[in-house]
Amino acid sequence: MDCLFCDHPKAHKHGKPSKGGQRYRCAACRRTFTDTFDTLYCRRQVTPEQVEIILQAHAEGSSLRGISRIGKRAYGTVVDIVLKASYEGQLVHNEEVEDVECRQITADEMWSFVKKQKRCEPDEIAVGDCWLGISLANESGLILSLRVGKHTDAFLQELVANTEGKTACQLWCTDNWGGYERVPPEEITHYIGKENTQRLERTNGIVRQQTGWWYRRQNKFGKLWKQIEVTARLVVSYFNWIWQHSRTTDTAAQRTGLSIQPWDWHDIATYPTFYCFYDGLVSYIERTCEDDCV
Ligand SMILES: [Zn+2]
Repeated sequence: MDCLFCDHPKAHKHGKPSKGGQRYRCAACRRTFTDTFDTLYCRRQVTPEQVEIILQAHAEGSSLRGISRIGKRAYGTVVDIVLKASYEGQLVHNEEVEDVECRQITADEMWSFVKKQKRCEPDEIAVGDCWLGISLANESGLILSLRVGKHTDAFLQELVANTEGKTACQLWCTDNWGGYERVPPEEITHYIGKENTQRLERTNGIVRQQTGWWYRRQNKFGKLWKQIEVTARLVVSYFNWIWQHSRTTDTAAQRTGLSIQPWDWHDIATYPTFYCFYDGLVSYIERTCEDDCV
C-alpha cells in the first residue's frame, strides 16, 4: 500500500478501525490512514453493495423510510448516506461537467410543491410551490443544470448562468414561458416551440419517474425543500453518469465525451472530496461545494 501522505511504498497494516476496513501506517512519515480514506464508506459500517442498493432505490423514487425498512438499515444511516452521496454528486457535476459540446440547449421546468399547496405567504420561501428548472444538451441528453426554486426571473437567471458555465452553446429552445423572453442576455439565440423540446419532455418523464414525490405529488410530495435539492443532485448524477439508454446502452456522459464508460454508484461514493496539496508534507483539505444545487 502506498502512503497517502508521502507516496512511500511501504505502508504496513496497522490494526483495524472499529467500523471495519483496514488501517495502515507509513514506515517513512509514520502517519496512519484507512483503506476507505475519502470515500463514502469511511467510518460507516456499510459495504459498497449496500450503498449501491440505497442510492439506486432512492434515485428510482423509493422513500428514505421505505429504504430503511426494507434494507434493515437505521433511518439515520440511510439519510446520512444519501446526503453524503448527494454532496459527492454535486462535486462530480462541478468538476466533471465542463466544455460540453452541444448545438442546442433545451430548457423546461416542472412543478412540484413542498409541505403545502395553498395559503403560502410571500416570505415562505421554503414551502409551497417548488419548481425544478432543467437545461439539457439536446443531442446527448446530458443535464447541464438543474435548479430548485420559486418560479421567478431570478430562478431562471440562475439556470441560465449555471448552464453558461458548462457549455459555449448559446442556442436555447424552451416552451413559451415569458421569463425566457426577459431573462436571457442579448447574445443568446432563443427559440420557442414544443416541437424542439421532445427530448427534454422524455427526460422530464424519466426524472419524474425516478423522483417519486415529483411524480406522485398528490400523496407523496417532498416534505422538506432541502430533501428535494438533495435528491435532485443524486438524480442528476444518476441520469448523467450511470443511467444507460436502453437502445444505445451508453450514458449521457459517454455521448458527450465526458467519460469512456458508464459509472456506477461506487464511482460517486469514492469521488475525491479532498484536495491534496504539499506543504512540507502532503496534506488534504476538504473541497467545498460553491453551488448549492446542480
Ligand atoms: Zn508516508
